[in-house]
Amino acid sequence: MKTVKITDDQFDGLDEIYGFFYQCPDCGCDKLMSNHKFCLQCGVKLAWEVMDDFERGRDGKRSEN
Ligand SMILES: [Zn+2]
Repeated sequence: MKTVKITDDQFDGLDEIYGFFYQCPDCGCDKLMSNHKFCLQCGVKLAWEVMDDFERGRDGKRSEN
């Protein structure tokens, strides 16, 4: 089974209720969350290498601002 790595480069946005969304590098689906083991859209296996919510802070802002 194919596996793709999800890093902070795939961070796609913050939902106040559901948390952080990431984009699938394989199909572009932007509704991935860090508790997902597989892409909702294409089914690829996800290997998470991202900051957790605590490290990022709840505003979802990144340092490039
Ligand atoms: Zn996908």
